[in-house]
Amino acid sequence: MDIEKLNLSSNYRILVTGGAGFIGSNLCEALINNGNFVRCLDNFATGKRENLSHLMSNSNFELIEGDIRNSKDCQKACSEIDFVLHQAALGSVPRSINDPYTSNEVNVSGFLNMLIAARDAKVKRFVYAASSSTYGDSKNMPKIENIIGSPLSPYAITKYVNELYANVFSKTYGMETIGLRYFNVFGRKQDPNGAYAAVIPKFVMQLMDHKSPTINGDGSFSRDFTYIDNVIEMNVRSITSSNLKAVNTVYNVAYGERTSLNELVGLLKQYLGEYDSKISTIDITYGPERKGDVPHSLASIDKAKKFLGYNPKFDIKHGLKHAVKWYWENLR
Ligand code: NAD
Repeated sequence: MDIEKLNLSSNYRILVTGGAGFIGSNLCEALINNGNFVRCLDNFATGKRENLSHLMSNSNFELIEGDIRNSKDCQKACSEIDFVLHQAALGSVPRSINDPYTSNEVNVSGFLNMLIAARDAKVKRFVYAASSSTYGDSKNMPKIENIIGSPLSPYAITKYVNELYANVFSKTYGMETIGLRYFNVFGRKQDPNGAYAAVIPKFVMQLMDHKSPTINGDGSFSRDFTYIDNVIEMNVRSITSSNLKAVNTVYNVAYGERTSLNELVGLLKQYLGEYDSKISTIDITYGPERKGDVPHSLASIDKAKKFLGYNPKFDIKHGLKHAVKWYWENLR
């Protein structure tokens, strides 16, 4: 992605935790392509070596194989770093329902380790992956940052606790933090496999295999699906913003439109159908609703526009076309 226009200096030293994962590896690549030094801390719990293989020989890239639950690994990773983009976590609502303890250990204790290490290393700013799940059972639409409901899953609790810790660290230790509440991110390198795969890569793979995708519920649930390049833009803006009113807070990271699951599958069938016409005739299967799922999710992106100048370039259709092309060319 071209992020040069965002004044990203070419000599920052940036730590991306979870840099072998979907969002993290895209961040590593974009930052390196713009001339920065990038260090990645990852334990490969869900991340993949192939996401980083093209960066391994780059002298501006360093991999630390380690665990955010280990404070020494966090200290080593934060040493001589300007900015932290903390992405490492165990994602997925169902995973946290099946194993709340491990999600808490990684997402809360690991987060605290990273905050302490970043504070002690005196990094300039700590930007972290928060989540739209923090809106919980709030019926408010669109979601505005300062109105949240009660969490609906252990995962949502962990992501909310991250925000509380970041806020206290900024007040108590004078750290600069920014939390980015991602809304259903999708795009190249998102893992389609495993029990906890996200819906877009899972459906793309099923359709490419001529299998019927299964929607949980009647397909009316909707999401503000957000293309990866919009997420990269927000991370870069969070690093580069010199507006001190923009820090020590959280932002929605979304496009600001919602799409139902039925509409989503329709678009995927249409775009994949351009590569293989049989795909456009595949029927949808409907299954039971999932525990912890929020019916509708739509973000207001006004705060990000106002304070960080966010100007997302990719709506769902534009993003899906790019994503589908990537899956067709790389994973078929
Ligand atoms: P991902 O699973 O692809 O990436 C997470 C990365 O963290 C992986 O590389 C994994 O190996 C690493 N990791 C996990 N536990 C670790 C540990 N103990 N120590 C070191 N590394 C560890 O997930 P993603 O979709 O790229 O998500 C990145 C971040 O964004 C996460 O914090 C997630 O909660 C958040 N988020 C993602 C979405 C989304 O739609 N993808 C939405 C909201 C929030």
